[in-house]
Amino acid sequence: MKLSQYFLPTLKENPIDATVVSHQLMIRAGMIRQTASGIYTWLPLGLKVLRKVEKIIKEEMDKAGALEILMPTIQPAELWIESGRFDAYGKEMLRIKDRHDRDILYGPTHEEVVTDIFRKNVTSYKDLPKNLYQIHWKFRDEIRPRFGLMRGREFLMKDSYSFDIDEVSAKKTYNLMYETYFKIFRKMGLKPMAVKADTGAIGGDLSHEFHLLADTGESAIYYDKKFDELSKLKTFDITQMQSMYAMADEMHVAEKCPIPAEQLASRRGIEVGHIFNFGLKYSKAMEASVMGANGEKIYPNMGSYGIGASRVVAAAIEANHDQNGIIWPKELAPFQIALINVRSGDELCDKVCEEIYNKFQEQNIEVIYDDTKASLGQKLSIADLIGIPTQIIVGPKSAAAGKVEVKDRKSGEKNEIEISEILKFL
Ligand code: ATP
Ligand code: MG
Repeated sequence: MKLSQYFLPTLKENPIDATVVSHQLMIRAGMIRQTASGIYTWLPLGLKVLRKVEKIIKEEMDKAGALEILMPTIQPAELWIESGRFDAYGKEMLRIKDRHDRDILYGPTHEEVVTDIFRKNVTSYKDLPKNLYQIHWKFRDEIRPRFGLMRGREFLMKDSYSFDIDEVSAKKTYNLMYETYFKIFRKMGLKPMAVKADTGAIGGDLSHEFHLLADTGESAIYYDKKFDELSKLKTFDITQMQSMYAMADEMHVAEKCPIPAEQLASRRGIEVGHIFNFGLKYSKAMEASVMGANGEKIYPNMGSYGIGASRVVAAAIEANHDQNGIIWPKELAPFQIALINVRSGDELCDKVCEEIYNKFQEQNIEVIYDDTKASLGQKLSIADLIGIPTQIIVGPKSAAAGKVEVKDRKSGEKNEIEISEILKFL
């Protein structure tokens, strides 16, 4: 992509209404623009990152045997009346009337719709287990939308819903999702941590929140330091991981904490996922049953598993930035290379840049080429701001010597390398 042809409205100053760093940087880097309170438009650079998040989620969900579906954003009120949540959900639900004066709503979540699909189409125990997921927009009329995509009103979620024959099978599915979530976030180059979550009225201990560790995170989380070692291992010992102490602030009581202070890690985190087994709650309320081996009626044991995909983009920035801008992990970077022409219009610089640019294009390596007439200072600061992992800087002197400068965004380390070695160097 040539910057001269791209749509990248960057800003030098922080917008006044943006108080957290991810919000500031996403606006400044031209990734998003606010359309209404808590509602955003994704511009090309931001959308590229969001799509990478989606892709990684999808790959790992598919590997875990979940099946992708796509449910509507607009739902009929009847289903929620059946589950008993139409009144219970409160003002976060955006309620609408259609032209026939029927109550409809913009889905804040999809348990009701998926349970309805299930009951109408699955009749036998032989069809279990099933885990259905989608990556789609939710609307929650948050009382205080803030921090940009961290707490938007419209946001992208991966939500999946599992149906199992009994508790034992449901626990297996739950554990598979628990493991899958670790894989998803690690594959994004991020640092996930699972903490026990409150199961409220439903009870049981099958609920975890997934947090991404970031110094600027909203929640304080406390966990057994042994977790750090466990999570470095290639193989997952889920029983051990789940038995270890790990709580977010609302669940952690210092006086009651069973592990000694020196063994307790205290970090900040951002909640990006939530997995939850709620047993027969919806299957019973909505009369979704299958026939068992002996003709008996069985209510499937259900769970739901969410990832705030759009919040992940913001959380990745909270965890990876410096005073100059974003530092993308390679896995999420919108481009791998920022190619900077120090003197656009200079015959040699232009020629060398074009050559390098074409080479990357041929190899399917995502490159953003700053071919504009901006000053070198501006070009360098934009490349830093948008956080591309590797910068290749082509100036007249080094180009004349057959060389270019390669700068690593994260370490700031610079190297001069031969133009002919560029592909090898990466
Ligand atoms: P929170 O406590 O942050 O409001 P929640 O418990 O309402 O979260 P869930 O219903 O479990 O969230 O939704 C699954 C995931 O969706 C959350 O873990 C979070 O990452 C994301 N999410 C929830 N609300 C929002 C929001 N308003 N904006 C962006 N992402 C959100
Ligand atoms: Mg909420």
